[in-house]
Amino acid sequence: MPEPDPSRFSGCLLGLAIGDALGMPLEGMRASNIRKRVGRVRDFMDAPWRMLKAGQWTDDTKMMLCHARSILDRKGVVVEDTARKFVAWFESGDWRGIGGSTYESIQRLRAGVPPEESGARGEMAAGNGAAMRIAPVGLVDCLDLEKLRRDVREVSMITHANPEAVAGAQAVAFAVARAARGDLEPGSLITETVDFIGPCAVSDRLLLAGDFLDRHMEPEEALARLGTSGYVVETVASAFFCFLRTPGDFQETVSRAVEGGLDADTTGAVAGAISGAFNGLEGIPERWRREVEAAEEIIELAEGIYHLVSGSRA
Ligand SMILES: [Mg+2]
Repeated sequence: MPEPDPSRFSGCLLGLAIGDALGMPLEGMRASNIRKRVGRVRDFMDAPWRMLKAGQWTDDTKMMLCHARSILDRKGVVVEDTARKFVAWFESGDWRGIGGSTYESIQRLRAGVPPEESGARGEMAAGNGAAMRIAPVGLVDCLDLEKLRRDVREVSMITHANPEAVAGAQAVAFAVARAARGDLEPGSLITETVDFIGPCAVSDRLLLAGDFLDRHMEPEEALARLGTSGYVVETVASAFFCFLRTPGDFQETVSRAVEGGLDADTTGAVAGAISGAFNGLEGIPERWRREVEAAEEIIELAEGIYHLVSGSRA
């Protein structure tokens, strides 16, 4: 019987923020450049060109917080309220690297287009914008995976009306849910995720990641081949690879994810959410828990979602 655990909920959302913050100063850099100039990534770093300090995170965490707050306000996933919170974040001006599809979609919402129709369409909308922020939905729906599938689809479509973007978000939410309720088996996660999301490019790349894991491929080579761009097919596969290579080691998972460069903050956020949920808050290095922006608030939100889930079981 799946048994949700509050430490896994907190570990998930804080893990996402930590992966995002660790990758923040590396976003856009090539992996080879990171190896040369930084080496192994162990600490948060300032990014004065982004006007962000060590430990601060980006749009990935900003949008994850919109989901988490909406879930707590409405005691579950409500598309209209989630969309309103995206608009409020946009209007705050604190964008921290907003993605193209998200920007366009929020403009449409502000012009009065309903959230079922606001999402960006076409090939260019196969970005990371839904997968990077979806963890709170995985948590709140962890005991009902069919509801998870529907909810993830609906809230992803607010900004990304693209089947791969939706499948990528469903893959991440599925892994988060299984970890949070304590029945994630690393050895079968990829095949179970592929069964869950069905045939698509995300599934094909996840199976390739599984093949690389079986061959004990070094992370530098695996991430170079899987990709770490803003294309969701690449990021989700690379994040799963980093997690499954070292399931019990949050630090190694997240470091390897951000060392892949390019969309480093998002690869870090996705890997951090899954690994944080799997290892719980105690599995995250103490200095990262202390130094990441708004840790207390993030843990409080995660605990609120845990109480929603455990309350629904009573
Ligand atoms: Mg970002």
